[in-house]
Amino acid sequence: MTRMIRIFDTTLRDGEQSPGASMNVEEKVMVAKQLARLGVDIIEAGFAYSSPGDFEAVRRIAQEVEGPTICSLARARPEDIDRAWEALKGAPKVRIHTFLSTSDIHLKHQFRMTRDEAKKRAVEMVQRARGYVEDVEFSPMDASRSDPAYLCEVIEAVIAAGAGTINIPDTVGYAIPQEFGKLIRGIRETVPNSAGAVISVHCHNDLGLAVANSLAAVMEGAGQVECTINGIGERAGNTSLEEIVMGLRTRRDLYQADTKIHTEEISKTSRLVSKITGMVVQPNKAIVGANAFAHTSGIHQDGLLKDKTTYEIMRPESIGLVESKMVMGKLSGRHAFRQRLEELGYKLTDDEVNHAFERFKKLADQKKEIYEEDLEVIVSEELARMADRITLKSFQVKSGTDQVPTATVELEIDGKSIARTGTGDGPVDAVYRTIAAITETKSKLLMYVVKAITGGTDAQGEVSVRVQEDGRTVSGHGADTDIITASARAYLSALNKLAYLAAKQAQGEQKVNLI
Ligand code: MN
Repeated sequence: MTRMIRIFDTTLRDGEQSPGASMNVEEKVMVAKQLARLGVDIIEAGFAYSSPGDFEAVRRIAQEVEGPTICSLARARPEDIDRAWEALKGAPKVRIHTFLSTSDIHLKHQFRMTRDEAKKRAVEMVQRARGYVEDVEFSPMDASRSDPAYLCEVIEAVIAAGAGTINIPDTVGYAIPQEFGKLIRGIRETVPNSAGAVISVHCHNDLGLAVANSLAAVMEGAGQVECTINGIGERAGNTSLEEIVMGLRTRRDLYQADTKIHTEEISKTSRLVSKITGMVVQPNKAIVGANAFAHTSGIHQDGLLKDKTTYEIMRPESIGLVESKMVMGKLSGRHAFRQRLEELGYKLTDDEVNHAFERFKKLADQKKEIYEEDLEVIVSEELARMADRITLKSFQVKSGTDQVPTATVELEIDGKSIARTGTGDGPVDAVYRTIAAITETKSKLLMYVVKAITGGTDAQGEVSVRVQEDGRTVSGHGADTDIITASARAYLSALNKLAYLAAKQAQGEQKVNLI
């Protein structure tokens, strides 16, 4: 019999902890909606207590995203649990995920608690969470470096207190597959009430073993895997969702297990997360890398032409990798636009449709054929931009072989229009310097990359930037058929994100070690 493994996606919580990968509320809602289309069972939407922005993201996702269970992380403290509940209440399927370390290293140096105190606190906080919701998950942080006897004692106590999911984190990425599998088996065999809870795993990739450890755990009876899109996350990242899902799907024969993921949405989800977080996917990355399905060797190609199964263990279509299709053109109206977006899975409000449609009309004037990827870009950028403080009203730029590149830029900042003229080494530099002068930003541009979204010289160029200020690094992105416009949009999206993070910090954001 095939067991169904729950997919717990933590792209919006652990994934967002990757340096430079922070997302604003609109972006998080957008990713959450795509995760729902992908069919994940649980979305960890954030850590509600950490800041008003994180709280708002959890609240909106709980209210607006249909399908998956929506979860907030909470430390084992009353104020964290209460805040998680406030963000989740009123939504149909919610979970509170609380955690406390069980390793002596963490208890002694970080929490300054004895083993007995930690166990008592864990039980109390699980009970408190159960006072609010049916569905409570508990994680013994740093489980893989904890004394197994004490670990099992805590697990037994929190299951008795009402935790329905016990998540075993390899917080520091120290475990090895055989050993980690054995730990999971040990918990299932030793803890007397373990059958009353789903055993979950949360692995980190410091030794490149996150997926292997998670699969070893599934083999030993784990029923939930915590993972992120493209494997993003703290340090070397988390278990990658697409690898765990395709591993189970491709080797169902061996694992006797599968997931409910609609794998055809994998490719699209990977692109969206990469674009929003600025975390580039390496070309040789399993499943979602640009080369993952590119068979270049002549011998392999010959085999493939004779029979696809010769060298292909998965079909590219199974992750939604199909040839770009022309979906709309210049004559498409608002109704058709909305309908097409709905077919692609985007359910937008009237306001959002109007906003995105304006941009679509402009693009359709510049570009004959509009592809699915173009629509994805329009929707993701326009929605993310709705909350921006700084927006681009207009700009002109003059450059050429015999003149100093000069830009005139008009921005709207908090509803007020400001225009200025400046010069630079080239047209992009002139625009950037002028924007920097208007916004008075002290930030530094660390990276600037342009690439084409689809083929053809009229394709949209997509610009990605990485910008740093006050120790905060953010990424920004912008697309247009004119790369100077795309560049301006990318820079402004990064500056808006810096403003968002600065506001979060000013509101007293809690920076803590999470699992
Ligand atoms: Mn983690």
